[in-house]
Amino acid sequence: MQDKEKNYSQLKKLALASGACLFGVADIEPLKKDFIDISPQSLKDLKYGISLAFRLSDKIIEDIQDHPTHLYLHHYRQVNYLLDRLALKISSFIQNQGWQSLPIPASQTIDWEMQKGHLSHKKIAVEAGLGWRGRNNLLVNPQFGSRIRLVSILTNLPLRVDKRMERDCGNCFRCVEACPAGAIKERREDFDWLACFEKLRWFRKKYNIAHYICGICIKACPGNIHLTKL
Ligand code: SF4
Ligand code: SF4
Repeated sequence: MQDKEKNYSQLKKLALASGACLFGVADIEPLKKDFIDISPQSLKDLKYGISLAFRLSDKIIEDIQDHPTHLYLHHYRQVNYLLDRLALKISSFIQNQGWQSLPIPASQTIDWEMQKGHLSHKKIAVEAGLGWRGRNNLLVNPQFGSRIRLVSILTNLPLRVDKRMERDCGNCFRCVEACPAGAIKERREDFDWLACFEKLRWFRKKYNIAHYICGICIKACPGNIHLTKL
């Protein structure tokens, strides 16, 4: 137990000093069945998922009006690179102590049809207590809202596990009103993936944005500012 706590504090300190704004740990056993393109052999001993978040620039997000900007496109890419480097740093630190560690790419699509990566960083973040799944289908943290991006590292290093945050969007509907595709509904389960994706495809073509991104529901969800008004 002492080792778990010590390892947790050591990694958290390193992650925050390296630029992460949030750190948490989840038990990944119940989530493994949904991981793709990672061999069972590689996953066998990995029991913990470390979830890290990096805070997006408010200025860049606030600059988005009714479509994704090139400033946001650049930011999105740079934050993904930074998250990958962060995961690599933590992973290497764990490995050098004699434990196993698997950094998962921050943004790499494996299954194009289903638009899936190796695993859901959001699911790990929820289990690691970083926030809840909002109506906009993104992770929402009380302090930063949806203005964060995530990465995960899987490991067998003994770590203390965090608790889920028992909160939800409550009476807030800002992103529902803001979404230009009408994809965000009252219940997250009703989120219209297809309508969202069609809008991203349209943005990509119309504004020559080399990614399927939008940013409008991220802008609508800034954290503290409006959550305190619920
Ligand atoms: S803007 Fe409000 S409703 Fe939408 S995800 Fe954020 S907190 Fe939830
Ligand atoms: S990314 Fe854009 S289109 Fe998709 S749900 Fe958010 S606001 Fe709507």
